[in-house]
Amino acid sequence: CGIIGYTGTTQNVGDVLLTGLSGLEYRGYDSAGLAVSNGSLSVHKREGDVSGLETALSDRSLSGNAGIGHTRWSTHGPPSDTNAHPHTDCDGTVAVVHNGIIENYQSLRTELEEEGHTLESETDTEVIPHLIERALTTGAGHDEAFRRAIDRLEGSYAVAAVFTGDEAVYATRNESPLVLGVGSDGYYLASDVPAFIEYTDNVVYLADGEFVRINPSGFVVTDEQGVIVDTAVETVDWDP
Ligand code: GLU
Repeated sequence: CGIIGYTGTTQNVGDVLLTGLSGLEYRGYDSAGLAVSNGSLSVHKREGDVSGLETALSDRSLSGNAGIGHTRWSTHGPPSDTNAHPHTDCDGTVAVVHNGIIENYQSLRTELEEEGHTLESETDTEVIPHLIERALTTGAGHDEAFRRAIDRLEGSYAVAAVFTGDEAVYATRNESPLVLGVGSDGYYLASDVPAFIEYTDNVVYLADGEFVRINPSGFVVTDEQGVIVDTAVETVDWDP
């Protein structure tokens, strides 16, 4: 029940994501996973706790400029490796993490399956990467494809996505928390400040309906129409 995203110049994005997930453990969860974009996407996820994921990853170095992570509190589909986030599209172009509930996922799923998409999990979340994939095949760029997918969702969500060959993380929220951390070596997105307080205490609280794109050189917050929103960076007083 927590999400983390990072983009920047750290040597080991996997460490940043795992630290972030540990900082969100207090929110409760039954599974954990992460995806790193480094030319291709590498996705690792499993039922169980963050330390189990950490152990499973201990003999690999997850380098890359962008990544997302998730702790899941299952609402649709039991805890399992397959139902754990991130979820991907058919050909592994995009990986998505989500907190909340997509109310209209059943009709979206039927629509996608009729078009030939194969969904592997029982989650409400998995429709999102497939909606993004559909937009990409009609020629949309990453930003536009992400927006078009989100536009179809009804329910509560904080969503973050990474694409293969892209150093950016794309995210938005509606009735689920999402905060941006502005650090010296990169940018963070998370459900709550403890996920990145070890790295920065400069934050931007995002509002419902706002979209944010972070990449190693900056961030941009926009509204539903794509118009840039002026943001205030606040310093939080938090005892790590
Ligand atoms: N509804 C999603 C699922 O069951 C996300 C749950 C959460 O917020 O962790 O996978």
